[in-house]
Amino acid sequence: MQAFEYFQPKTVREAVQALHKHPKAMVLAGGTDLLVRMKDRVNRPPAVVDVKRLPRSDDLSYAGKTGLHIGAAVSMRQVELSSVAQSRFGAIAQGATFVGSIQIRNRATVIGNVCNAAPSADTAPGLIVHDAKVQIAGPKGRRTMTVEDFMKGPGKNDLKRGEFVLGIQVPAPKPRTGSAYVRHTPREAMDIAVVGVGASVTLSPKGICTAAGICLGAVAPVPLRATKAESILVGQKLTPGKIAQAALVASDEARPITDVRATAGFRREMVRVLTERMIKAASRAATPTRSRRAA
Ligand SMILES: Cc1cc2nc3c(=O)[nH]c(=O)nc-3n(C[C@H](O)[C@H](O)[C@H](O)COP(=O)(O)OP(=O)(O)OC[C@H]3O[C@@H](n4cnc5c(N)ncnc54)[C@H](O)[C@@H]3O)c2cc1C
Repeated sequence: MQAFEYFQPKTVREAVQALHKHPKAMVLAGGTDLLVRMKDRVNRPPAVVDVKRLPRSDDLSYAGKTGLHIGAAVSMRQVELSSVAQSRFGAIAQGATFVGSIQIRNRATVIGNVCNAAPSADTAPGLIVHDAKVQIAGPKGRRTMTVEDFMKGPGKNDLKRGEFVLGIQVPAPKPRTGSAYVRHTPREAMDIAVVGVGASVTLSPKGICTAAGICLGAVAPVPLRATKAESILVGQKLTPGKIAQAALVASDEARPITDVRATAGFRREMVRVLTERMIKAASRAATPTRSRRAA
């Protein structure tokens, strides 16, 4: 590994200054992507800015008004084990659960996963179907944008010189909202998604779908929102026929490639199968159980 300068800022201002002063510096969170690439000399940053000691960087908290806050140092494992993430943001918690091994999940951050911008990033579909926003700090102040717009292509995000991601904010879901994520991999663990699908649905008290989110991983240069499939569900009762129709449309919306891991045709078919399953799972999670209704 090439020698590099190491910065561990204690304030956002110091972090922005370090990044602005060293234009080729890279941000370090858990290092599970960055350090591997530095070791392999794919990345040779002259300086590294560690964001794990910034105020609120380890904050994973929920408030009814603002929703879920995920700080820059929050690990996959924290999200996987968080009861509020599991109960209100199922697709995000389940996405975190799939990443690597427990050792990797103890280091890897959710924000690192998003900044790394792999089309197969396991937390991205869940964050996108929950309309999560990244909070960015930089020399010109702060700005926010959706995770969907932030991820620009394989390894590319929207950050400009001197900027980094401070946190992710996920709005509080409406009542009777459920979500779920699953991926297909040839191996059960320590593999990356051949296809990943996140889905969310919100139901009216009478069981009509009032909002839907479907996001497809690893079948386009970015995690892809299947908007045509979503629109098939909205305003409808989620009957098996409607769900199957939406899943078929989602598989048409996917833009998969053939590579060493799977053919485009296989990926398209997996999108159909997994989308159908995830809409059903999201819909079950959105439906109050008898005991909850009685309480
Ligand atoms: C063995 C192994 C298995 C893996 N399995 C999976 C898997 O199953 N699914 C999956 O999705 N990923 C997997 N990964 C990839 C990796 O663990 C994730 O992408 C992880 O979430 C990255 O987070 P990190 O904190 O380690 O990021 P880092 O490695 O620290 O950073 C990743 C990138 O994001 C940038 N970055 C990080 N934080 C910020 C920030 N706050 N602001 C601006 N830029 C930032 C860095 O500069 C770097 O370019 C695996 C990796 C390994 C080594």
